[in-house]
Amino acid sequence: MLINDGDTVCIVGAGPGGSACAIALLSEARRVGRKINVVLFEHKKFSEHRHYNQCIGVLSPPFEDILKNELDLTLPENLVLNNMEGYRLHSDLLSLDLIGEESGRSVSVRRSKFDAFMLEEAQKAGAQVVHNRVTSIEINHDGVLVYSEGDNFKCAVVVGAFGLDDGTCSIFEQGTPYRQPDFLNTVITRLYPGKEFISSMDSTIHAFLLSHPGLEFGAVTPKGEHISINIAGRKVSSHIMMEFLRSAPVQRFLPPHQRREKPLNYFKGKFPIAPARNLFGDRYVTIGDAAGLMRPFKGKGINSAILTGVYSARSIMGHGVSKQAFAENFYRECSELTEDLPYGRVVRLLTNLATSLKFMDHMIAVAAERPDFMKAMFGSVSGHDPYKKIIMETASLSLAFTFAQKILGHFVFRQEARLPAKSASPTA
Ligand SMILES: Cc1cc2nc3c(=O)[nH]c(=O)nc-3n(C[C@H](O)[C@H](O)[C@H](O)COP(=O)(O)OP(=O)(O)OC[C@H]3O[C@@H](n4cnc5c(N)ncnc54)[C@H](O)[C@@H]3O)c2cc1C
Repeated sequence: MLINDGDTVCIVGAGPGGSACAIALLSEARRVGRKINVVLFEHKKFSEHRHYNQCIGVLSPPFEDILKNELDLTLPENLVLNNMEGYRLHSDLLSLDLIGEESGRSVSVRRSKFDAFMLEEAQKAGAQVVHNRVTSIEINHDGVLVYSEGDNFKCAVVVGAFGLDDGTCSIFEQGTPYRQPDFLNTVITRLYPGKEFISSMDSTIHAFLLSHPGLEFGAVTPKGEHISINIAGRKVSSHIMMEFLRSAPVQRFLPPHQRREKPLNYFKGKFPIAPARNLFGDRYVTIGDAAGLMRPFKGKGINSAILTGVYSARSIMGHGVSKQAFAENFYRECSELTEDLPYGRVVRLLTNLATSLKFMDHMIAVAAERPDFMKAMFGSVSGHDPYKKIIMETASLSLAFTFAQKILGHFVFRQEARLPAKSASPTA
C-alpha cells in the first residue's frame, strides 16, 4: 500500500493539522520527485471570519521553530495581537507569578486569521481546497471514497483532521474502527472592557485552579481589544461560567462596570484529554485533536496538530498507507506526545484532587517558597517541559516532607493552619 504517481490524498478539515499535513505531503512529494494530488476539505471560509473558533489563539514555543523547520513558514507579524509576557496562577486565596524560561515567545493571534494563513500556504503549495462538508467515507481494499456535500473523491488514503467535530467523528466511527477521544467541555466568552482598561492589563495569561465543583480550570487572557475567558470541565455550562466570573479571584480582572453584567455571548467547545482508539488503520489516519494527541492542561494544541500533521505526511509518503506502516512510523514519531500521556494523567489527577480538597492555596504557597516546585508549576502551566521530566525532577524527599506537613496542617489541624504567603499574594 504505497503512494504512487498520480495518487490522491484527501484531508478532512483544514485547521492547523490539516493544512500542515497538506503542505508537508506536497513538499515531501516534490523532494522525492513524485506527483500526487492533495484534496483539502474545509466547510468554513476562514477569510470571511463568519465562524467562531473556540480556541484562545495563543501560539506558544516552539511554534516558530515548528513552522520554520517543518513547513518553511514564518508567522506574518501582522497576525500578532499581543506578545504574551507570562503566566499568573490563581487559587481560591492566593496568586503567584510563575517564574521560568521558555525557549521562544508566546503570541496571541486571531484563530480565523491564522487558519486562513495556513490554508493559503497549503493552496500555494498545490493543494486543492474544496469548501464543502465531508458527509461520509467508505474504505475499500483498493482505495477510499470520500463523499461531500459537493463532489465525491476517490483517494488512496484519508487523513482525519476534523478536530472534535461531533458529526465528523461519527462519520469516521461509522466508516472505520476509529473511536473519538475522551474530552473536556469548555465554555468561552469575551468581554470588551474598553481601551483604557485593556491597556492597564499586562499581557499575562491568568490561569485559575479554583475549588469550584464542576470546574477543572479557567483562564483569563487579554487579546487585542478584548478579554477572552474560558473554563473547562466535564460538565461546564454558561451557569458555571457566571459563577466563575462572579468569583472573587476573577472579579479583579474584570472592568468595574462589567463585574455584575451577564456576558452577551457564550461559545461551547471541547478539547481531548486522551488519545482516540484506533486512531489509524489501513488507508486512514487521524491527527491533531481528532487523534487526541495533546497534553492535558496547557495543550499547545496548535503545535501538536501541526506536528502530527507533518508526521502523518512523512509516514504516508515514505512508508505507505497500511495500518502497520502507520504504527511503525507515524505513531512512533508521535512518541514525544504519547509517552508523556500517563504522566500528564497523574498530574491532572493530583491537580483535581488538590482543587476539590481546597489544597491549591498550599501548593501555591509552597511554589512561592521553593524554586524546585515553582519550576514544576511553571513547566505544567506553560507546557514547556514534558510531565515526565517535571515529575522526575521535582520528586524529592524534602518536598514530600513539606507537603506531608501541609497535608497534616490542612486536614488535622485545619482551624489552626495558616497559609505562609511570603511571595504569593492574596487574591482579594
Ligand atoms: C477553549 C479552548 C481554547 C484553546 N486555546 C488554545 C490556545 O490558546 N493555543 C493552542 O495551541 N491551542 C488551544 N486550544 C486547542 C486548539 O484549538 C486545538 O488543539 C487545535 O485547533 C487543533 O487543531 P486541528 O487542526 O486538529 O483541529 P481544528 O482546529 O478543530 O480544525 C478542524 C477543522 O476541520 C473542519 N471540519 C470538521 N469536520 C469537517 C467536515 N466534515 N468537512 C469539512 N471540514 C470539516 C472544521 O471546520 C475545522 O476547521 C484550545 C482549545 C479550546 C477548546
